[in-house]
Order: sequence, then C-alpha cells, then structure tokens
Amino acid sequence: MENKDLHIKDQQFYLPTFKRIPLTFIKGIGSRLWDVENKEYIDLLAGIAVNNVGHCHPKVVKAIQEQAADLMHISNFFVSPPQVALAELLVNLSGLERVFFTNSGAESVEGAIKIARRYAHSKGRGGKIISMHNSFHGRTLATIATGQPKYQEGFGPMPKGFIQVPFNDFAAIEKEITEDVAAVILEPIQGEGGIRPADPEYLKAVKSLCEKNDIVLIFDEIQSGIARTGEWFAKDIYGIQPDIMTLAKGLGGGMPIGAFMCNEKIASAIQFGDHGTTFGGNPLATAAALATLQVIVEENLIQAAKSKGKWLKEQLSTLKEQTGLIHEVRGEGLMLGVELQIPAAELVQRLLKAGFIANATAGNVLRLVPPLNIPDEDLEKFIEVLRVEIKKLEIEQK
Ligand SMILES: *Cc1c(COP(=O)(O)O)cnc(C)c1O
Repeated sequence: MENKDLHIKDQQFYLPTFKRIPLTFIKGIGSRLWDVENKEYIDLLAGIAVNNVGHCHPKVVKAIQEQAADLMHISNFFVSPPQVALAELLVNLSGLERVFFTNSGAESVEGAIKIARRYAHSKGRGGKIISMHNSFHGRTLATIATGQPKYQEGFGPMPKGFIQVPFNDFAAIEKEITEDVAAVILEPIQGEGGIRPADPEYLKAVKSLCEKNDIVLIFDEIQSGIARTGEWFAKDIYGIQPDIMTLAKGLGGGMPIGAFMCNEKIASAIQFGDHGTTFGGNPLATAAALATLQVIVEENLIQAAKSKGKWLKEQLSTLKEQTGLIHEVRGEGLMLGVELQIPAAELVQRLLKAGFIANATAGNVLRLVPPLNIPDEDLEKFIEVLRVEIKKLEIEQK
C-alpha cells in the first residue's frame, strides 16, 4: 500500500474539512513515526502537543490494555478507582480543589464557562465572558464565540455574551469590566495564536483586577499544561493561580480526555445536576491519564522539557542571528514558536520531505511541540536540517 491510496479514499468519504497531508501513519514509538511506505519520521508536533510522553509509551499502553480487560465504562453514576486516583493527583499537582473530566479540550472550556457563569449568577453578576484576540479555545459554538473571527464565519448566529479584547493589553480588559462580566478566559501562552506568552506583569494585573471585582479568572492550559512548558502548568511559571483551569491534549498520553478544575469558591456554587457527561472520565481514559502523569514523574519529564527546551531555544536563537528569515523565537520549555518573515507552510513541507514533522500555525509561525522525552540526538538532527532548509529558502527568496 502507498500513502496516496488511503488518502484518495479518505478524500472520498471524510467530511472535507481537514486539508490533509497525503501521509498515512501506521506506527509510532517515542519521538518516531512510520508511514505506510515504511519511511521513518522524527515527530516535533506530537499530535499537536498530545503525545507528551511519546508515542505508545509502554506504561501507558500497559495501563490501557489492563484497564480495557477489567472495565472500560460504567457511567458517572458510580465510582471508579482510576478516576478517583486521577482526580486526587490533579488536585495535588495543581493546587486547585475540584476536577471534572471531559473528552476533549473544547468540552473542558464549555464546562469552565458554565461553572464560571453559575458562580457569577450566584453573586448576582451577569454572564459575559471576556476572551482574547488571537485566542483558541475549541470549535464548538461557545468556544468559537470566544475566539478568532475566521472560525465564526458562516456559523452564525453566535452565542451571546462574549467580548474579545487584545491580548497583553491591560487597559483593554479594564475598560470592559462591568457588573455584567462573569469571567476572563485566556491562554497563559497562546498556542494556535502563534506561541505567544502573556507578559508576567500583564497577567499579574489581570489576576488582581479579577480578584478586586470578583470576576472568575480562567486559564486555558489545554496546550500549555501537563509539563509541556517545563512546569506542570504554565501558570506555575508565572506563579499565578486561576480560579478555573482547563486541560486536555497531553493529559491522556494519546487517549482522548480533558478536564476542568476549580477552587472551592467556584465549586461551592455548583449543585447536583448542574453539569454532566456520559463518557467523561471513564475508567479507560482515566487509567491512561494516570499512567501518563506517573511517567512524567518517574522519567522527570518536567526537567526534560525545561532543559531540552532551553537547548532548542538557544539553537533557534543562534539560527535567527544567522538568517534574515526568522523574525522571532518564542515560548517556554518544549512549547516553542519560530516566527518567520514568510508563511511557514513551505518550510513545513520541506521538513516533512526530509523526515521531520512540524506544523505551521498563525500563518508565519513554525510550531515545535515535540514529545517531552525526545532524545537530544533527534533535536540535534532537526536543527541541522532546519538550518539547511532555512538557508535554501533564504537564497530562493532573493
Ligand atoms: C487544542 C486546544 C483547544 C481545543 O481542544 P479540542 O480537544 O480540539 O477540542 C482548546 N484550547 C486550547 C488552548 C487548545 O490548544
């Protein structure tokens, strides 16, 4: 079988919403992937910041196999050991006091918005949600209402009660604060928006503004969480605790699972029946997530994200000095963005040909979010190839 065979079938049957690259992957181990023609790739995308412990980590695979043989699903009418263990662990890691499990990122954000509104209404406030330009919180109706206009086009009418302001602009938020506002939602490091970190002073000011006005502060850590940035959560880099935090992507080691967490103040506004889910947090998904978090601890992947990220960022910054094609290098740990002077898609294509998987986001940004346990040699190989491809592109530009 060849890569293009299945691509043709995919194009015939799948809803034409993904502009897929005609590559069919069938095997992954750690930071390596193999396509159906047996070509090997080094993966610097990790399923969009999902495979933080690498592809098919043996401990995650074993946890899934064992749990699948015991019990996969029971509904949330009942208690299950892996769900309880995961809830306790996440509470201990985050310093937030309550958790609710979902099946995806967007669902986590939906839940976060709901409980924020529930809390605000219990205090007699309105339900408006302030979000940021360039943000990304998912593709459901409420989450596209928080985000970029390009995702809203053709899907109106949009849900009401959402206000967007420029990111990293404190005056812009301050201007919108009224009794009608329930919450502010932001990514401490914007992911899809091009790997743009919040300024520490800005985030501190937003935190105290929210505290002063009893507005709920929501951090969307779906991309930045789970050790990606060299801390368990990006909030820990800033030393700022939100009222609510959303998780997904890296949480399940490849298994679809998300979560939203909150402090006791928010949780106290929630009553039986206020929210629910059938699949969310089922034994299979939570067993996978539990194993994933254990691997991060046992293999010291927080430190790995920090040191490998530091090395990679230094190399990228050196490369920036050697070429006119790189505008800026941004990010923390292994959540890095290289903003080019030109669209990043062509570079991504060439890297792919050379056997490296990366991705272009926000037009000009090359996004690098590899597995946290990617071997140093893989990163070295990548930098070598990136240097060559950027030089070639630069010559062609002239
Ligand atoms: C990916 C992402 C989402 C959406 O997650 P899905 O699982 O695709 O619904 C939400 N917020 C952020 C910050 C993300 O990176």
